[in-house]
Amino acid sequence: MLTRRHFIGRTASALAGMAVAGSGVRGAAGAAVQPASEGMRREVVVGGRRVTTVDVHAHCEIPGIREMMGAGPGPNAPLTIGPDRLRAMDEAGIDVEVLSINPFWYGVDRDLAPRLIRAQNEGLAEICAANPERFVALATSSLQHPELAAEQLEEGVTELGLRGGSVGASVGVEELASRRFDPFWATAEELDVPIFLHPQGVPELAPRLEGNGFLGNVIGNPLATTIALSHLIFEGTLDRFPGLRLCAAHGGGYLPSYADRSDYGCGTRPAQCTGPLAQLPTDYVRRLYVDALVFSGTALRHLVAVLGAGQIVIGTDYPFPWTATPDDARLPRFQAVDHILDTPGLSDADRIAILGGNAAALFGISV
Ligand SMILES: [Zn+2]
Repeated sequence: MLTRRHFIGRTASALAGMAVAGSGVRGAAGAAVQPASEGMRREVVVGGRRVTTVDVHAHCEIPGIREMMGAGPGPNAPLTIGPDRLRAMDEAGIDVEVLSINPFWYGVDRDLAPRLIRAQNEGLAEICAANPERFVALATSSLQHPELAAEQLEEGVTELGLRGGSVGASVGVEELASRRFDPFWATAEELDVPIFLHPQGVPELAPRLEGNGFLGNVIGNPLATTIALSHLIFEGTLDRFPGLRLCAAHGGGYLPSYADRSDYGCGTRPAQCTGPLAQLPTDYVRRLYVDALVFSGTALRHLVAVLGAGQIVIGTDYPFPWTATPDDARLPRFQAVDHILDTPGLSDADRIAILGGNAAALFGISV
């Protein structure tokens, strides 16, 4: 590992000069990138400046944790962190990953939860310590036990150096906006660390999402995020915790695409609403951070128009590849960095912010 890291470092230095010299210049934006090849680290350059790219939507698991729940065997190889992950990052042009783990432990009882989460967060911290230039991570927590989850978040951040927390879009069928979870949000606000929200579909809708099209994910995931964020807005969670910084996967689901309808709901049907919010729903939407995993330049430009370029970060969804059907010439292979470099109409400053500047500020990463 050490040998390889040194090799990567040398390669990167050698390539940096080539990139700045103009190799691979892209379009009017002046964004350039070195092509990936075996053993090389892709360098992303925008406007002549090397950009440290940060992927905020990077999955992993810690070996042994599922076994603690009696739910083994452990993670598939692509979810573990090792040389293959670094190689994939190098090829994709990702300098830093903000690691998170999709919750599979929200049903764990109060006795096991402290040991499980401690081991898991220590595992994350060890990965980061071994590769401090390539990884930061987000604390996991047993949100089904909210007071404990708040302690786990605090311990993860203050003792283990984790950069925030991660949550699912619900805890079973319980909404994140439930007052029961306020201690967790209060701690995140107090620590001034962001919380990454990643959905896992809407199991209650499984019968309607069966059939052709991978709808349980394609529709289910953005829908789960949309429901979660809408409740956090309308139940007043974001009013109670005005300093809370949320970062949602998959472009924030459908919410940024149709948020204006939320502004008109309570005026149209006041009997369906329980009380006024401090701001319009769309004002809260603009407070959100979201990843750019929306697949087209048109969709990314819409996110920039709604939220501003300062709220958007890279999301690769690694190791879950989003790709076209093999041999389908109508669709290019989706590549998270190229998606941002190739979207027309963004300024160099926009691209630099989305590629890494925003995430570096949000997660305390020095670039
Ligand atoms: Zn994901």
